[in-house]
Amino acid sequence: MKYVGPHVSAAGGVENAPLNAQKLGAGGFGLFTKNQRQWKAKPLSDKNIAAFKESCDQYGYQAHQILPHDSYLINLGHPDQAQLEKSREAFFDEMKRCEQLGLDRLNFHPGNPLKKISDEACLQAIAESVNLALDRTSGVTAVIENTAGQGTDLGYSFEQIRYIIDHVEDKNRVGVCVDTAHAFAAGYDFVSSDGYEKVWNDFDDIIGLHYLKGLHLNDAKKELGSRVDRHTSIGKGYIGENAFRKIMQDERLEGIPMILETPDKDLWAEEVRLLYRYMEK
Ligand SMILES: [Zn+2]
Ligand SMILES: [Zn+2]
Repeated sequence: MKYVGPHVSAAGGVENAPLNAQKLGAGGFGLFTKNQRQWKAKPLSDKNIAAFKESCDQYGYQAHQILPHDSYLINLGHPDQAQLEKSREAFFDEMKRCEQLGLDRLNFHPGNPLKKISDEACLQAIAESVNLALDRTSGVTAVIENTAGQGTDLGYSFEQIRYIIDHVEDKNRVGVCVDTAHAFAAGYDFVSSDGYEKVWNDFDDIIGLHYLKGLHLNDAKKELGSRVDRHTSIGKGYIGENAFRKIMQDERLEGIPMILETPDKDLWAEEVRLLYRYMEK
């Protein structure tokens, strides 16, 4: 099964997200469980939690069809100790919220050394941040999202992601989300005819396909290897519909949330339909 859907709004409460997804014909969805641009959030109330679970039941969304995303403020590899601790506490809070909501995974951007520490030290700090959060929560997998490698952002190569996984103690609760626009910007050419197989074979060799816990389906506004993180609607960028057709027909990419983070909300319902149509051989 393929679970395609947009990263929907949770305005007014997380419990509104499942209905927002259902209205778009989505088979899965992404969401923020708190305001992604603020450090602090009110704890989820029992009422929020019960309403979210009820709504997921009502519209037929299970945990493995949903991919929550953490706050953009968090840097789990921050070079400054006080800032690192702030990020770790915020990440723990996000993991906890997922646990409370009955969700089984949380997508996060690895981190950034901010030119103050080595890449290796940063990747180790990220892994340690994951270890700390996993120790204090249960049932939620920390899902590392590959990045475009913009500026000094880490996590743009499969090797870096593997390095983080190698330093995570509980390998059963760490996973990976591949963002197509980020991979393309980082130089992974899964668009050319032999490129597609090579990229997934490399992913399997270096990381392992069993770690794949989600995909972000975004077209790219900038060319291959640009290192610029700009998403665009499916079929409207440099990736193009052929590569998305391959993804939708790829039997290795089953049973995981496939989330659109494309910029034009008005196209979401159409993009979901289009992607499901690509499954027809
Ligand atoms: Zn992201
Ligand atoms: Zn993404």
